[in-house]
Amino acid sequence: MNDPILTIVVPCYNEEEVLPETISVLLEEINYLIETNIISGKSKVLFVDDGSRDRTWSIIYKNSLESEFIHGLKLARNVGHQNALLAGLITACKTSDCVISIDADLQDDVGVIKDFMQKFSDGFDIVYGVREKRDADKFFKKATALGFYKMMQRLGVNLVYNHADFRLMSKRAVEELEKFEEVNLFLRGIVPLLGFPSTSIYYNRKERLAGDTKYPLRKMLSFAFEGITSFSVTPIRFVMLVGILSFITSLLFGTYFITLKFLGETQTGWTSLITSIWLIGGLQLIAIGLIGEYIGKVYKESKRRPRYSIDVNTLNLTQQLMERN
Ligand code: UDP
Ligand code: MG
Repeated sequence: MNDPILTIVVPCYNEEEVLPETISVLLEEINYLIETNIISGKSKVLFVDDGSRDRTWSIIYKNSLESEFIHGLKLARNVGHQNALLAGLITACKTSDCVISIDADLQDDVGVIKDFMQKFSDGFDIVYGVREKRDADKFFKKATALGFYKMMQRLGVNLVYNHADFRLMSKRAVEELEKFEEVNLFLRGIVPLLGFPSTSIYYNRKERLAGDTKYPLRKMLSFAFEGITSFSVTPIRFVMLVGILSFITSLLFGTYFITLKFLGETQTGWTSLITSIWLIGGLQLIAIGLIGEYIGKVYKESKRRPRYSIDVNTLNLTQQLMERN
């Protein structure tokens, strides 16, 4: 087989601080891989600007004019990491044999890309980059990440432990991924479902090169919640179980208190009354909220809106850049 054409897909949201460094590191890596005949000379890096409000796009654009290996795709608005990545993967796989997704902050080790390519030529369609150590992450992030994986596993969702979105996918794997038309996208959950030959490569995750995380606590929690509710209805069942249990408990208590009343031992009972009102009220609100979350998901999916739109002003440019080699 000829050297495979690789496209490295990098989603970027307000990344002006790291981008120049990222571009030069990735360029160097691409050049090295081409020189050593690991990948074809038609390989490239595709930066997806996810509706950034800073200079991200102008940096990408300028570099794309200077180097034939740098390509850009500008989305019309911010659609979030997962959908931006999808936009990049779908665009990239049209002109490549395989794609690798990596974050713009270079926390993932570009040095293992050659190992990814080795696995690809061994016949694997999907190669997961798995973090061996999480030294760079704060204790809190480590603990919440672990809790999340454990919970997903309990809910029956097959995730690759300690794998984020640093992975290689073959053209046919991305084409299969395209068939999953959900708007609430959680790639880490979907990719293992594709059922292609897959393997893992271990690496050390580093500190963010510059700039701030685009996943503050609020976004991280919502991402985790999204992951759970997109893949499992177990939480709804759990709510029902709690409802049934509290119903049975209230029956028992009711019988007990009524019996006491007939025996003439009237309870003052205010404390138990007020506590149970709050308890049941709270449980009901949680249950309604949870069900609302699922209904909201159905609502979003039923609208069938496109998951991303490419910026019209740059559409021609994007096409030209993609067709250039
Ligand atoms: N990102 C994106 N759109 C968003 C948020 C983030 O494309 O709405 C990109 C971001 O530029 C980065 C990647 O997603 O390349 C991961 O974000 P970040 O590094 O901030 O997340 P963390 O590593 O802290 O989990
Ligand atoms: Mg990061």
